[in-house]
Amino acid sequence: MAPVEYLFAHRRYCLPFRSPVRTAHGLWTEREGILLRMTAGNGTVRFGEVSPIPWFGTETVDEAEKVCRALGEKVNDARLQAVPENLGCLRGALAAARLNLDPPTNPAPRQIAALLPAGKAALELIETRVDAGFRIFKWKVGVADTAMELGLLDDVCSRLPDGAKLRLDANGKWDRRTAERWLERCAERPVEFVEQPCFAEAAQGTVQQRKVEDLLMGLTEDYPTPLALDESLVGQGDVARWINAGWPGFYVVKTALLADPTTALAALEKAKAKVVFSSALETAIGARAALRLAFAWSGEPHALGFGVWPLFDLPGVNGPATAPFVRWEDVQRIEEATTWNACN
Ligand code: MG
Repeated sequence: MAPVEYLFAHRRYCLPFRSPVRTAHGLWTEREGILLRMTAGNGTVRFGEVSPIPWFGTETVDEAEKVCRALGEKVNDARLQAVPENLGCLRGALAAARLNLDPPTNPAPRQIAALLPAGKAALELIETRVDAGFRIFKWKVGVADTAMELGLLDDVCSRLPDGAKLRLDANGKWDRRTAERWLERCAERPVEFVEQPCFAEAAQGTVQQRKVEDLLMGLTEDYPTPLALDESLVGQGDVARWINAGWPGFYVVKTALLADPTTALAALEKAKAKVVFSSALETAIGARAALRLAFAWSGEPHALGFGVWPLFDLPGVNGPATAPFVRWEDVQRIEEATTWNACN
């Protein structure tokens, strides 16, 4: 059989965020990425999106673009397989564009977590979000003074309706002592999990990274509130490594950052892992790929971290508008060609 050939096109984009995103590395003001279009011999057109987050340890957009250019206008599976392993986002986008997924066996709407801003600003927003029907809330912490944030925790919790749950995301900013103070405080409160309390970047060296991983493991044993890994799951290898280590907490999975999400998710499913699907702040093309995987997940459902759109002012490039639930119809309605054309 002749190898499957595709006409390949890529398009780099740079879209300013409607509001800048606060990260551990300062303000993130625009989303850069690459859209891919693959046309099969029978005329079928499929899309993919490379949306790296370099400070998570992924490739950069420049690195991915260089390889896209080298691929040229005609590609086949063998050439795509040869894309280097360290370009996980590009490999993942190429896989997404070729992935045939059956419609979900369970197309029931999936719950979405409402994002709350850091600090006091969260208090003003909770009521609106509760009235809109949200029941899972995510609050960024580790941004301001610890004592101040700890003081706000009860105010935030007191505004939650019965049965609602709060996720705290520290983005790896705490040291051991701060993490312990928070986890002591969270014990009796409706906290679903604490996301990435501590983290060591690759630049800090493997010794420090292993030390922090041991610390995370120790914290899950010492405190009742579950922990979640996010920054720790840079790529494919990390997911497998934490499964092997028997991580008992949640996995926040940004499928856009994985070279082979299907394999990683199968391993997580087999391990009966608690998975929270999460956005990498991508356009509608990446949103469609990620949400399709979230709907295909047959493990226990947890509210999705996709309450991010509209992220951009440009019409036609946003994923499904944030609501307490996302429906399968919302995913099907995404028109990838519209996004592709808008990023011209
Ligand atoms: Mg996070």
